[in-house]
This record gives sequence, C-alpha cells and structure tokens, in this order.
Amino acid sequence: MYNKTKNLGYVDVLILGGGMAAMLAAIEADSNGVDVCMVSKKKIGRSGASVVSKAVHRFAPQEKQDKQSYKQNLISSGRYINDTSLVDVLVEKGAKSVEELALINKNLNFKYKTIKGDKYKNFATTKPKQGKHLCHPVLKHLIRKTGVRFLEGYMAVDLISHKNKVCGAILEKGNELFIIRAKSVVLATGGGGKIYSETSNTNDLTGDGYAIAKRSNVSIRDMEFVQFYPYRICEPKEHDIFPGIFEKGAKLLNKNGERFMNKYPKRELENRDILAKEMFKHAESYLDLSGCDLTYLQEECNDLYNIFMNNKGRKYKIKPVAHYFMGGVIQKPDGKTSMKGLFSCGEVSGGIHGANRLGGNALTELAVFGPIVGQNAAHFAIKNQIQSTDIRNIFLKQIPDIGKSHLLNFENRLRKVMWENVGIVRSMTSLSEAESVVNDLLLEIETIKPNNLKNWLELYNMIEVSKLVIKSSKYRRESRGSYYNEDFPSEKDIWLGHISYNNNGNLNFVKN
Ligand SMILES: Cc1cc2nc3c(=O)[nH]c(=O)nc-3n(C[C@H](O)[C@H](O)[C@H](O)COP(=O)(O)OP(=O)(O)OC[C@H]3O[C@@H](n4cnc5c(N)ncnc54)[C@H](O)[C@@H]3O)c2cc1C
Repeated sequence: MYNKTKNLGYVDVLILGGGMAAMLAAIEADSNGVDVCMVSKKKIGRSGASVVSKAVHRFAPQEKQDKQSYKQNLISSGRYINDTSLVDVLVEKGAKSVEELALINKNLNFKYKTIKGDKYKNFATTKPKQGKHLCHPVLKHLIRKTGVRFLEGYMAVDLISHKNKVCGAILEKGNELFIIRAKSVVLATGGGGKIYSETSNTNDLTGDGYAIAKRSNVSIRDMEFVQFYPYRICEPKEHDIFPGIFEKGAKLLNKNGERFMNKYPKRELENRDILAKEMFKHAESYLDLSGCDLTYLQEECNDLYNIFMNNKGRKYKIKPVAHYFMGGVIQKPDGKTSMKGLFSCGEVSGGIHGANRLGGNALTELAVFGPIVGQNAAHFAIKNQIQSTDIRNIFLKQIPDIGKSHLLNFENRLRKVMWENVGIVRSMTSLSEAESVVNDLLLEIETIKPNNLKNWLELYNMIEVSKLVIKSSKYRRESRGSYYNEDFPSEKDIWLGHISYNNNGNLNFVKN
C-alpha cells in the first residue's frame, strides 16, 4: 500500500494538464505575477488532443443579430440542454479571444463570412490545418516569455482538499507518489476518448480529470454525451478527414454504392450526431473522392491528397470514432467549480456544448476560457494562503503495491465493451451488460499488483469514467444528441435538462 509520499513543495497556481487549455491558463496566470507550475503526464504542448487537432476555430461574427443566430445554432446542435451562461460567454468573447491568441500564434489565419454585404471574421485556422502549428508557438511563448515551471512526466492522481477547499494535488512519476501544495488548482486534463477501442484521441486521454473530480465530489454533468466523429478513414490508412471536402464534391456511400445522406437537406454536412448515427446504421461506409476538387484537396488536406494519389481506384472505408466528451466538470462562467480554489477549463469541463458539439467550437472554448480561468485562479491565489493541513486522502489507501501484473488485457476488455455496448447505439440491455463487465473489471484490478503504477491509475480512472457514462446513459430515458437508445428512441421534453453528480457524489436530474 502506498503510504509514503514525497514532498514537492508549494506553488501559487498549480495547473494540471499540458494541452492548449492548460497552456493558455498558465500564460494568463503568470501575467498576474504569481508563481505557476504546470503538471503534465506527457510533454507540454506536444500531447493530448490539441496537438493532433485540425486547428479549426469557429466563432460568432461580431454583429448582434449574427451572434444571436450563432447561439441558436449552438444550442439547437446541443439539443437545448447547453449551459447558456457559458454559451453566452463563448459567443460574446469568441472572436476577440481568438484574435488575442493570434497575437501569440502568428500562424493563425482568419477567414471572413459576408453577411448582408459586410465581412466578418468567423473562422481561424493554421495552414496546414495541424494542431502542432497551433500548439508549438504557444509553447515557445510559455518557455521564452513566462516564468511558468514545468513538471513533465508527472501524472495528477488526486486532489488534496480541506473542508471543500483545494490544497494541492497528489502526483505520480516512476511508481512513486508526490504531494504538491497550491493556493489554487486548474484542472485542464482534457477528455477521455481512450475508454473506447475506436477513437481519434491520443493515448494519454484516459479521462483522469473526470475521475479525479468524481473522487473529490466535485460536481460533473452530461457524462452520457460522447461525440462520435464521423470523419475518420480506417482503410487503406487511418486518417482524419476534414468536413470541408464534402463542400468540394466528396460523398459518402454505403456498400451498395448508394449515397445514404441524400435524404437529409445538408447531406454529408449534417451535424456530426446525425452523420455518425447514419454511418452506424449502414455498418459499412465509404468515402468517394472521385468527384472531389483535387486542387482543394492538395491545398487544404495535403496528407489526404497523398493517400488519395497513392491509392487511386481503392475504396476508402470510413467509420465514426469516439472523439469528444461534451460532459465534464461543472464550471461557472468565471471557471469556478464546486470546490473552492479549484477551476477547470478545456475538454475536462462540461455543459457548454450540451448533447452535441459543433465543429470548431472546442478550440474557441479554450481560447476564451483558458485565459479567464488563468486570471481567476491567480486572483484566488493572491487572496488566499497555502493550507497546511494533514493529507487525508481515501484514494491513497486503494493504490496497490508494485508487482508483476500486466494490464493490457484488462484495458482491452474495457475498451471493447464500451465500444460495442456504450457507443452510438445503446439499449438498456447493452448498458447493463457493460455495467456488469466494468464492475467485474474494477473488482479484478483492485486486487492485483501492477508492474506499472501509472498504467494502473489510468486504467482505474478509465473504469470510473466508463461507470459515469453508463450510469448517466441508463438514467436518461430518451435519445438526444450524440447517441441513440433503442429502448427510448425519441427525444422527450421531460428530459430537457442535465444529469449531474453533485457534491455529495449523488446522481441528479436538473431540469432546464
Ligand atoms: C483528432 C482531433 C481533431 C480535432 N480537431 C479540432 C478542431 O479542428 N477544432 C476544434 O474546435 N476542436 C477539435 N478537436 C477537439 C479539441 O482539439 C480538444 O477538445 C481540445 O484540444 C482539448 O484541449 P485540452 O487542453 O482541454 O486537452 P488536451 O489538448 O487533450 O490536453 C490534455 C493534456 O492533459 C494531460 N493529462 C491528462 N491527464 C493528466 C493527468 N492525470 N495528469 C497530468 N496531465 C494529464 C495530457 O497529457 C495532455 O497534455 C479535435 C480533437 C481531435 C482528437
């Protein structure tokens, strides 16, 4: 049992995570004159979803009427359960925040939309559209222009708190545990796509932040809503595609060569939830690039163009994959969570996108809320003292000693059952079956001695997150947004609201 922890000292603002949300929060906190430390399992600015993203930022054009229609669109895509207080901030500050980000990252180019003869910025991306061109300049800025300290290769295991006020965190590195105390903490650990066997997410996205929040009774919501991205080729080579190609002549076909999205007004450009469900129904879907404008392909998606040129005449099999968690930690518009001194930003937070996210809004969300959270975490640290109470952390008692057991088999069982039973199409039976597998897995891993502590902690978190997704899905007796429940196939007004775990750890339904 792990009862020995090493002391890593004190910091004003502790930031857990190393993606864009964490980096932007760190830069802003540092500019407020406080001592900031970032903790990341992997390399800062080179891990998580941000660095593999397509770098697309979409935001509302700055005209009152257009902001209103952008908001309507976001909320209708979220099937009317979005947290509108967060949506308002995103819509109001989106354009300005991305412009501010472009002061740090000169790779961001803006595109304009013409509305009633006037041109408005409403889209920004790097060229080529690759997350590394988004993250690396921000990382460079962090290193060269701030005093932010990095703890790389350290995994955040749990929070330490006293009377619902955060005091710091427990970290792991090389099978050892550490304590770092802080006046305020920012949770920015990203999503949890790895709980599914088919995902666009990187390996480090094991949902740790959701599990950490749940263990500390920090309120979380909407965990049933996982977005399945309908734009990933799996044969002849795994590769993401970009929805823009459907405006340039690309099509989706079923195995009989029929264009199955024809029945929808926007065809392949319908929202991701509709597209993913249709692809799932057709079992096999193929991307037809024969009518696609090749100059566009070469300019906008060079990697895809090369795959196309090297595999002429072949079929491109395409399937939806787990992509984004709409749910997560409940945050106020100022980034505060239900625990004093704890803030959250990025994909680990929930509520803004409701039951389904519109493309390009996740990165805008980071640009808006990363700096807000960094500033408020710094202000909190300035006004508060380090708490030096004893560490009482129940989870520490559950952490096993190191032994010889490998964990891959457990992990594969979990990811398979989540994909097969808790994916785009679910039913009460499939959810109950998955629940029983997940509960068994938990019992099994609680009694083993793993050969690697980080792997065990990640697996434990993945199991906890899977339980949250399953429980919330069983609770919601309708089909809304990103998934479909065969036993309750329609959307129902009585379910207009969110399912949350409150600060007693209990499951609640909160009506809109
Ligand atoms: C392939 C792909 C393409 C995408 N393209 C777009 C796009 O074009 N536009 C858009 O708006 N959205 C896009 N998204 C979504 C968007 O990229 C993410 O939602 C966003 O980048 C999340 O940022 P984040 O900082 O919250 O988390 P991440 O960027 O995922 O970073 C999480 C960080 O936390 C670290 N971490 C995790 N757990 C721990 C722990 N326990 N302790 C310490 N560190 C930890 C990770 O190693 C990582 O450094 C895309 C997502 C994917 C997967």
